[in-house]
Amino acid sequence: MIVVMAPQATAAEIEVVQARIAEEGYAAHLSQGEARTVIGVIGAGDDRKQTFADQVESLAGVERVIFVLKPYKLVSAESRSDRSVVEVGEARFGGPNLVVCAGPCSVESYEQTLECARAVRRAGAQVLRGGAFKPRTSPYDFQGLGESGLDMLAAARDETGLPVVTEARAVRDVETVAEKADIIQIGARNMQNYDLLRAAGESGAPVLLKRGLAATIDEWLKAAEYIAATGNLKIILCERGIRTFESSTRNTLDIAAVPVAKRLTHLPVIVDPSHSGGRRDLVLPLSMAGVAVGSDGLLIEVHPQPDRALSDGAQSLTPESFEQLVEQIRPLAEVVGKPLPSSGDRKAPGGLWEP
Ligand code: PEP
Ligand code: MN
Repeated sequence: MIVVMAPQATAAEIEVVQARIAEEGYAAHLSQGEARTVIGVIGAGDDRKQTFADQVESLAGVERVIFVLKPYKLVSAESRSDRSVVEVGEARFGGPNLVVCAGPCSVESYEQTLECARAVRRAGAQVLRGGAFKPRTSPYDFQGLGESGLDMLAAARDETGLPVVTEARAVRDVETVAEKADIIQIGARNMQNYDLLRAAGESGAPVLLKRGLAATIDEWLKAAEYIAATGNLKIILCERGIRTFESSTRNTLDIAAVPVAKRLTHLPVIVDPSHSGGRRDLVLPLSMAGVAVGSDGLLIEVHPQPDRALSDGAQSLTPESFEQLVEQIRPLAEVVGKPLPSSGDRKAPGGLWEP
């Protein structure tokens, strides 16, 4: 159930509604948009709900009460009057600019991470990606450097000013990832790990939620609702390709998922063209496709020496080809109304622009 406050509702009226919801034993999630405030009511699913809705509707400052039929309520588009923007450093996912996140699949060393961070920042990325806890299909493949990898990412952030997104593979990683990184990534293989979703939500940190390999959009949004239900609405959805019968590509980028998810939710949606295609030559066309359908950002793998990468080298771009990609998507991003931030907007940690 969602309580839509009138645009002129006062803070005191909003407080009265919140107190009434709490008194009834339900949880209230406040969302303050520019035009109006909406309050999500969680738990109002019993037979008292119609009576309660009528009572709330009669309170001062309440415009209307609506029932959300979808199982994802807090993340549904109806629950807000505007789109949510997740702010991390200078990046604003869901804001006016396209947010490019880039970096290695895995953190392998401090030098490799820093080299990547410097290169992607110079090219225009606003967020550094890199895996320290790697979810590998085979137990014999490189599993990541773990906590020392997080320290390398944090050091690269201190050096370049780029905020860091990295995966928490298990509940036990969440606290450290939340402390050392800026965004917690939930990997495709963990999209329905409900304890992990709850723990990530409870950390209060922004969460980047990848779509599961074989998850429907509905399941993906219900997974996002698990995070939102903890009170943390700083969620970024990431379409990273799904498994289909097609074997020429690693996964199939479900391009329609971007506008579909954006219509169903108020959350920002980004595209990972690297894991979608699994091939370096597809990263540019899939990035273009993502930007064309309204993606709020891109998550791209870059490695200083892809042929020596410990994971996903085949889909990793060199720093030079990443820089070219950014220049190639720039005009398209402009045309679709989500331009890349101009270089003047990117400041060095000390406030000075470094060429
Ligand atoms: C990754 O981003 O490195 C990763 C493992 O992605 P996914 O969970 O989408 O496979
Ligand atoms: Mn990878």
